[in-house]
Amino acid sequence: MSELPTDHDWMARAIQLAARGLYTTEPNPRVGCVLVHAGELVGEGWHLRAGEGHAEVNALRQAGPRARGATAYVTLEPCSHFGKTPPCADALINAGVSRVVAAMQDPNPLVAGQGLARLHAAGIEVSCGVLEAEARQLNPGFIKRMQQGLPWVRLKLAMSLDGRTAMASGESQWITGAEARADVQRLRARSGAVVSGADSVLLDDSALTVRAAELGLEPELAQAAAQRQPLRVLIDGRLRVPLSQRLFREPGAVLVVCSDTAGREADYQAHQAELLALPGSHGRVDLAQLLAELARRGCNEVLIESGAALAGAFWQAGLVDELIVYMAPRLLGSRARPLLELPFDSMAEAMDVRITDLRAVGNDWRITARPLPVGTD
Ligand SMILES: [Zn+2]
Repeated sequence: MSELPTDHDWMARAIQLAARGLYTTEPNPRVGCVLVHAGELVGEGWHLRAGEGHAEVNALRQAGPRARGATAYVTLEPCSHFGKTPPCADALINAGVSRVVAAMQDPNPLVAGQGLARLHAAGIEVSCGVLEAEARQLNPGFIKRMQQGLPWVRLKLAMSLDGRTAMASGESQWITGAEARADVQRLRARSGAVVSGADSVLLDDSALTVRAAELGLEPELAQAAAQRQPLRVLIDGRLRVPLSQRLFREPGAVLVVCSDTAGREADYQAHQAELLALPGSHGRVDLAQLLAELARRGCNEVLIESGAALAGAFWQAGLVDELIVYMAPRLLGSRARPLLELPFDSMAEAMDVRITDLRAVGNDWRITARPLPVGTD
């Protein structure tokens, strides 16, 4: 590089570091930090998992005495309160850092700006907003949970080129290739919870687990991701799924949500599963309440992997933030099942989405889309 790196360059590095925590930091945010002294990189750090060092502390440890007079680039405003670890704002002050550049403020409206104010009060030059859009993309779920008490919800679906998912009989199999399946594994791994419904679990006997070997990540990250495992949530309104299914045999926490527990809590507990009643209307489970409950338990990102009926219910209730559709180069024919069960009768009911990303994943295509708020063009 002939020119000196800019604030943007260093922040881009900090964002790269933060992304190393993509699969492991839940319920905490992914954060990266870079320390630069007289134009030279002296320390790097990122947050790996809850209960362990924050990004700033890890970077300060690497820099040692060279942190004095350095600039700290942090992807999120340094914390100013005692959590599981002491506040990073104090650690930066004590290390003698002279300038702090943050990408964004703490999304929690109750603490936003306090970390930066604390640094400023200690005589440190402070600025905020460098690569903010990129930094926000690291933590859509953490931001939404802090601001709305709800997780970021992704609805994942797989379809043929003609928009079908399974035969009318229900007969189905993976219609996408190995690369797309690894991509789904990574979506699971970054989520706090994976949600499925009784119909799909009965049909596929899926365990909804994260498997290190299938993630396609470097071994160290894959191991850490598989060690964490998202909470597996089964929506089973009438408790139809037997406890002999793989979902209950694989290790890890399972939450079964029904409309009436019918006094069966102990049966489920014996299989390391928790039974929770969240009755909604028409004997169905209250999906909005479920999401609020998952946020309360610290889930930032939630992945829904279900059949067309439950997927349609989440979508129609306006609870989906992101639609992720894998499209396989295959035709399943006109008698096969549709992607979403949305029983529309007129064009007036049609729903528009905004496609935000489209890319090849192996032989398949991945389409990412967001719902458009009602009344927008
Ligand atoms: Zn911190």
